[in-house]
Amino acid sequence: MSVSVKAILDAKGRDVVTAGGNTTVAEAAKILNQKRIGAIVVVGMNGKISGIFTERDIVNAVAKHGSESLDKPIASLMTAKVQRCKEDTTTDELMGLMTSGRFRHVPVEEKGKLTGIISIGDVVKWRIREIELETEQIKAYIAG
Ligand code: AMP
Repeated sequence: MSVSVKAILDAKGRDVVTAGGNTTVAEAAKILNQKRIGAIVVVGMNGKISGIFTERDIVNAVAKHGSESLDKPIASLMTAKVQRCKEDTTTDELMGLMTSGRFRHVPVEEKGKLTGIISIGDVVKWRIREIELETEQIKAYIAG
C-alpha cells in the first residue's frame, strides 16, 4: 500500500511559498530561513510555475559566482524545467522521481494550478508510517 499525495496534502495543508523571478537570492535566502523551508516555487505574473529555487541553488551560486550571487534575480539561477506530480501520485512514485532526479521537492499541480508541494521529509514520514502499519498488521496476523 502506498499513500497518495492527496492524503499527505489533506493532512499537512496546501500552502506553498512562492516568489516572482526578480526576487534576489538574498531575499530568497531570508524567506527560506524565516519559513524554515528548503524551496521556493517561482511563479510568473499569471500565477503559473516558471521554476523552482532551493537552498541547493544558493550553495551552487555562491560556490560558482561568490557573494555577487546574492544580488542576482532567482530567475537567473532557478531550475526552469520543474518536475511536478498530481494529487493521485503515490509516495512510491515520488521516491522514484526524487531519487532519479536528485531533488527533494516536488510541486503538486492539478489542471495547471499549483495545489501543494511535497518535500522528501514528507515522503519519509509517510513511508515510515506505512511500514509501521504493515508491521502491526503482520504481527496481529501472526498472533492470530
Ligand atoms: P533540492 O534537493 O530540492 O534542494 O534541489 C536540488 C536541485 O534540483 C536544485 O538545483 C533545484 O533547483 C532542483 N530541483 C528541485 N526540485 C525540483 C523539481 N521538482 N524539478 C526539477 N528540479 C528540481
